[in-house]
Amino acid sequence: MEDCIFCKIARHEIPCHIVYEDEDVLAFKDLKPVAPVHILVIPKQHISGMMSVGDEDAGIMGKIFLAIKKLAEEQGVSEDGFRVVVNQGEKAGQSVFHLHFHMLAGRPMNWPPG
Ligand code: AMP
Repeated sequence: MEDCIFCKIARHEIPCHIVYEDEDVLAFKDLKPVAPVHILVIPKQHISGMMSVGDEDAGIMGKIFLAIKKLAEEQGVSEDGFRVVVNQGEKAGQSVFHLHFHMLAGRPMNWPPG
């Protein structure tokens, strides 16, 4: 995916603040954080969104959630709590069409979300 901004980040072509990386998963700080901790966790391979996840992606989905758990411990928010959000589709607020999990923490979270 030549023009996908998160593919470029995954290929280290665009600078960002990386907080976790392995061969399949990358996590980096959101450019416009909406919470004191706002990290994006992505598969390095291009998957355009939640509805494009296939059976073959089960392993990478597990790796993403294990990375989020590790990040929660590293960021010191595992006790206080945190929120994981996927915006699927424009109506839900998706603006970058490369699957990403927002990890948000460090302030009270309202429910229901806006
Ligand atoms: P969404 O609206 O759910 O698609 O979320 C996209 C997120 O990507 C937004 O929170 C943006 O602030 C963030 N974002 C866009 N470009 C970059 C970038 N170059 N580095 C870090 N975060 C970015």
